[in-house]
Order: sequence, then structure tokens, then C-alpha cells
Amino acid sequence: MNALAATSRNFRQAARILGLDSKLEKSLLIPFREIKVECTIPKDDGTLASYVGFRVQHDNARGPMKGGIRYHHEVDPDEVNALAQLMTWKTAVADIPYGGAKGGIGCSPSELSKSELERLTRVFTQKIHDLIGIHTDVPAPDMGTNAQTMAWILDEYSKFHGHSPAVVTGKPIDLGGSLGREAATGRGVIYATKSLLAEHGKSISGSTFVIQGFGNVGSWAARILHEEGGKVIAIGDITGAIKNPNGIDIPALIKHRSEGGAVKDFKGADPLDKDELLVHECDVLIPSALGGVLNRDNAADVKAKYIVEAANHPTDPEADEIFAKKGIPVLPDIYANAGGVTVSYFEWVQNIQGFMWDEEKVNVELHKYMKSAFNNIKAMCKTNDCNLRMGAFTLGVNRVARATLLRGWEA
Ligand code: GLU
Repeated sequence: MNALAATSRNFRQAARILGLDSKLEKSLLIPFREIKVECTIPKDDGTLASYVGFRVQHDNARGPMKGGIRYHHEVDPDEVNALAQLMTWKTAVADIPYGGAKGGIGCSPSELSKSELERLTRVFTQKIHDLIGIHTDVPAPDMGTNAQTMAWILDEYSKFHGHSPAVVTGKPIDLGGSLGREAATGRGVIYATKSLLAEHGKSISGSTFVIQGFGNVGSWAARILHEEGGKVIAIGDITGAIKNPNGIDIPALIKHRSEGGAVKDFKGADPLDKDELLVHECDVLIPSALGGVLNRDNAADVKAKYIVEAANHPTDPEADEIFAKKGIPVLPDIYANAGGVTVSYFEWVQNIQGFMWDEEKVNVELHKYMKSAFNNIKAMCKTNDCNLRMGAFTLGVNRVARATLLRGWEA
């Protein structure tokens, strides 16, 4: 099922549980603004190349719109729309004062040189600079983008509006980025996992994990699991997958990757078929890459006891139904990966205050937010007799609906 159809279906189910007025329901679903721009840049060889960029600003009832910008060849308007909508519910679940947005450029970042990426980012920023801003819409990194991308956006934006560090988050520390931001999504995933396991009398150190994806989120999640004594028994990325029933040496794998080695060529593990990875037996499966990877084709074969969604929308609604029947709890994306945007909020706060927090404070605060969101989701599950995904959706949608109604409809 396409990402927008899947996300909207989850939203509608939550709206029904909450008994939302149908006009309010419709208005919450439709994005505030959808931006599409053509970005033409000279390539290093002198030829011209054009890329399509999007920014979907979904909702701002609770505060400035917030969300990442991804560079990926599969970026399309529907997917960006779905991801923007997910950001609205995610910031509400985390209870940070933002709405939701998402952007993307349809390109293959690994095939572009650093200077081509810089030119592309600057042209994109030139085209959207008057539609983003500290109190309007605050971009951040996502798949295929990083702190350097944010530095270019900050620099280009500042040419038009003066020095404005809070216009993007996930910046390099030297430009006002927050300590702990790079690790934050992965760290939040582990805080979330701990809460889920604790509920079932289990812990990280006694459990086995399978991780799909070894980018920023997957590699930080793996590193923190390893530090806490968790056994990562299989891991994979686009190059392939590997397994080791005794636990993969994550620091060694990170070193191997930083030296340019592919995950599949790591010596301390055996090869594993890429499709086998998601159905490999383990306690906790952590999809940390693309959307829609758990679907009706593979869900029945999943052997994990729990699923924690570090990626955005990795589970199709059809797979959700199968997991419910099999009794596999799924900790949803709009909660499980909210650590990234939560520390983005801390970064924005630090920029506005002009005061830098130490890393311990960042992590302590992140833990508080993740714990509180978990407890609030569980309370919604109890009130509405629903699963974790609907607990999170009803929590988020209800907060946005309340803010919308309080602001009123009168012109
Ligand atoms: N791209 C991340 C997400 O999907 C972080 C967004 C942000 O920090 O604004 O949640």
C-alpha cells in the first residue's frame, strides 16, 4: 500500500476512535501547503542537471512546522506528504511545540560529488527560503542528508534573512548544533525499546536484536544496544546482510564501514540473504531504513517477538493486522523514532536561548520525553482498548485536534 494511503488510513482509524467531527477530520488530513520546485545545477563536467524538490508543510496548529529533508531517488510527492503528516502526529506524541513538515529532492546523493550536492542544496534553499523560518518551518536531516547539508541551508538562508542558526536543526556543533543530536534518533529508539521490554519483564542485555539499515539511525541504535549488553545477531543495509548468533561486534563493524567497507563484507559474521533478514528469528526486530518493508508478502513469516519502528512507516497496515493476529507488539514510528526531532527541539531551544547544554542534560531530557510519551501512549491504549500504533495515533491526533479547535475557525 502506498505510504500516503497507509498513513491516512491510520489517521482515519484514530479519528474514528476519538469521534472527531468529519470536517475537522478532513481539515487535519489535508496539508497546509505543498511546495514543488525545479532545481537546475551545473554538474562538475559542465552539463546541466535538473532535480525536483518538495517541501510539504502539513500542519502548524501546535507550533512551527518541523521535519527532515531527504535526498533519495525514490522521493515522490505522495511519500513526502505522508512523511509530513507523520511528523505532525510525531511532534504531538512527543509533546514538543511543533507541527509537521517534510521535504525531499529526487536524486541519488551517492552519485553526486560534494560540490554538486552543495550547489543542489543552495538552489533548493533559494527556492524555498521565504517559506521556511525559525517560527514557520524548521528543516532537519533525514535519509541522504546530514549536518553538512544543514550547514549549507543555514548559510544560504542567512544570505537572505541574516544569521539564523535556529532555522535548521541537526547542524554541525560548530554552527550551533546540539550535542547528542546525531545519536538522538538511535538513542531514542533504545529508550523506547527498553520501556517496551520492561513491560514484559525483559531487558536489553538479555535480548537478541535484528537491525535493518546501518545509516545514522541503525548504526547508533546498534552501537547503544552493544554498549548496553544487547546482542545484535543480524544486520543489513542496501549492500546485503550478515548474521552471527553470538552477537556482531558493532564497534568493529562501525570501523569497517568508516574505512569504506560494505556491511556484507564484514569478516566477523556470516552472509545472510537480504530477504531473510526481516524474518530472522530474534527478540526485537528494528527496521531502520525505508518505508513499507514489512508488508503482506513477508509479515506472516516474521519471527521476532517485538518490532520497534526506527524507520518511518516501515509497516504496511496489512502487515499490522497480521502482527496483531500473531500477538507481536509493534512500537510505532511516530513514537519510536521521535528522539531525533525531540533533540532537534532542544537544539532550537538552545539556539533561541543562546545557551548550550552539555550532552548529559540533552540525554536526560530526551529520556524524560521518551518515557513520558510511552506512558501517555499506554494510557491511550487502555482508554481506547487499542494497540500501540492506535495508542500513539490517538494521542497525537487528539492533541492536534484540541489545538486546532482552541485556535478556532472564524476568519
Ligand atoms: N528526519 C527526522 C524524522 O523523521 C528528524 C526530523 C527533525 O529533527 O526535524 O523524525
